[in-house]
Amino acid sequence: MHYISTRGQSRPCTFSEAVEAGLAPDGGLFLPDSWPDISGKVVAWEKLSYAELAAEFLQLFAPEISPDEWHALTCKAYAKFDAPEIAPLLKLTERTYMLELFHGPTLAFKDFALQLLGLLYERQAKRSGKHLAVLGATSGDTGSAAIHGCLGQDGIKIFILYPEGRVAPLQERQMACTAAENVFAIPVPGTFDDAQHMVKEIFGDAEFAAKYNLSAVNSINIARVLAQCVYYIWAWLRLPAAARENVEFVVPTGNFGNVLAGWLTQRMGLPVGSFRVATNKNDILHRFFTSGEYQTANVLPSHAPSMDIQAASNFERFLYFLLDQDAARVREVMAKMKAGLPVTLPKPQTSLRATRMEDGQIERVIAQMWQDWRYVIDPHTACAFTDMAQDRVSVVLATAHPAKFPDVVKMATGNEPTHPTLEALKDKPLRTHPLPASTDAVKAFITANV
Ligand SMILES: *Cc1c(COP(=O)(O)O)cnc(C)c1O
Repeated sequence: MHYISTRGQSRPCTFSEAVEAGLAPDGGLFLPDSWPDISGKVVAWEKLSYAELAAEFLQLFAPEISPDEWHALTCKAYAKFDAPEIAPLLKLTERTYMLELFHGPTLAFKDFALQLLGLLYERQAKRSGKHLAVLGATSGDTGSAAIHGCLGQDGIKIFILYPEGRVAPLQERQMACTAAENVFAIPVPGTFDDAQHMVKEIFGDAEFAAKYNLSAVNSINIARVLAQCVYYIWAWLRLPAAARENVEFVVPTGNFGNVLAGWLTQRMGLPVGSFRVATNKNDILHRFFTSGEYQTANVLPSHAPSMDIQAASNFERFLYFLLDQDAARVREVMAKMKAGLPVTLPKPQTSLRATRMEDGQIERVIAQMWQDWRYVIDPHTACAFTDMAQDRVSVVLATAHPAKFPDVVKMATGNEPTHPTLEALKDKPLRTHPLPASTDAVKAFITANV
């Protein structure tokens, strides 16, 4: 199996090369050049533990990593989760299940991919004998999950830029209170987009990036998407047999990575009914799935900040399939989008639909869920609870633990949600490395610390 670019102008490469590069050299996103059919395999996977299931599935995409090595990697990746099932599926009502994806070290679903990605980076560093410098920008959840994936790994230093004063205090503590020598949490003045822009500029300096073996941590790494496929299969296997084929997965969505993973498992033959893309008021994807028009707008801050996105970076992978795997058309459409032009695409004849939610409704949903079921949800997960399917079972992906977003939850329920992991952070010293908003200053800092 090889990995090709959605833009069709990169040399096919191996899984390890695609993971190390992140973005394809032609600016596109990596995808496997062939897809396994899992329809005949899934039932035999029913008795596996979560880590075993992950190893069986991921082997199909990276033959260069042996089955034994995959088992060792996935066991280690999911060892720090605080629920024995790793991704517990909880039955809330006859027709609604919660897939709790917040039992990892940073209490958000991003741990599923980033715990594994950190180990893949470490494996790569060991094999090549080179030290890696992982660099990324974050508005909160990605940065903390990436840091916890690389914590204490040999041969890896991780540098995460974030907008000073604009990430939630607990998220900053998750990044800056690790006490790990290989972690650098870097607040910079400006917005998330400014921080992201600096990261892009640094990667744009190919000589610098090569000299320090820079790896990008962002939401487009193919390993992240594949790791996220696993919990859809896991959840499907835990549903009653009668509910499986018609189930609707409801996915709080920002960059489209999570829901894309689910949709890909369906393409690979997992017999599920449908997917719902649940957005907040930053509703570019909702507008696209209802009208076929993909038009970015200004990003508005919301109660669900990890979904405050108006250009979903993983959407290009879906686009590739929507345009019949025609890379030339993908290039054309991406160029238009980059120029800020509205794009009308073929209306997807797929099993995807979309909903959106305003902040006020997020608060009401959290309050209602608490009142009706004594179940506390976080503001991202709340976006799922609208227009529920009437004729089928829904599995709602709970993407973060409510204690990560205490203010909104307290406003809605009257109680401040807590979690021991977050409580423990409150007493630890905060170690940040503030830098000015200058690419040169960040480069100098990396040079001094790799
Ligand atoms: C990142 C994140 C999302 C959005 O996930 P995408 O893969 O970007 O669609 C939703 N909820 C939470 C809590 C997140 O951290």
